[in-house]
Amino acid sequence: MAEYIAPIQRLIEEFRRLPGVGAKTAARYAFATLDLSDEAAAEFAEAIIAIKREVHKCPICFSLSESADACEICSSDKRDRSVICVVENPKDVMVMERVRGYRGTYHVLGGSLSPIDNVTPDDLTVSALVGRVATGEIDEVIIATNPTPGGDTTAAYLARVLEPYGVRTSRLAYGIPVGGDIEYADEVTLYRAMEGRRYFGE
Ligand code: ZN
Repeated sequence: MAEYIAPIQRLIEEFRRLPGVGAKTAARYAFATLDLSDEAAAEFAEAIIAIKREVHKCPICFSLSESADACEICSSDKRDRSVICVVENPKDVMVMERVRGYRGTYHVLGGSLSPIDNVTPDDLTVSALVGRVATGEIDEVIIATNPTPGGDTTAAYLARVLEPYGVRTSRLAYGIPVGGDIEYADEVTLYRAMEGRRYFGE
C-alpha cells in the first residue's frame, strides 16, 4: 500500500524522476506543491509542458534553441565559424559562454564515450561533428569535454578521428581553480595543471 493518498503519491513519483531527488525530498516537494495557489500550480505545470514544446535542438551544433532552426550562436554573423568548441552537454555551452572572449561556435556531443555504459560514438553527435569539419571551413576544434575518464577517452577519440582533416585540435587545460590554493589541490588536479601549463610569451 502506498504511504500517501493517490494524488500525492503520484506527484512524489514524478519528482523522483529528477536527478538527486530521493523519496524524502520528493515528498517535501509534493507537499510544497500542495501549498501553492491554484494559479502558481498551473504556472508550474505549464512551464514543464512549455519546456518540452518550445525547446529544440539546433540542427548544426545540437545546443538548445528556441526555434527548430539554427540556434542564436550558429546563426550569428558575429561568431567565428572556423572555430568549434566541443562540449558534452547543452549546459556546458552556457558555462563556456560566460568565458568572455570566446567568439567561436560549439558542438554538443550529448554525453561522453563509456564502454561500461555502452555509449559508443554512434550514440553521440560525432558523425555530425566530423561532417562539419569535413567541409574544410573549420580551422580549429577545442575539445572541452569534462576532466573525467569518459571525457578524456572522448577527447582522445575525437583528436584521432579529426586528424585526417588537418584541423588544429586542442584540449582544454584543467587545473587549479582561480582563487584556489595549490596546497589543497589533489594530485590529479595538480598533474593536469602542470600538463596544461602555458609558456610565457606564447
Ligand atoms: Zn547551433
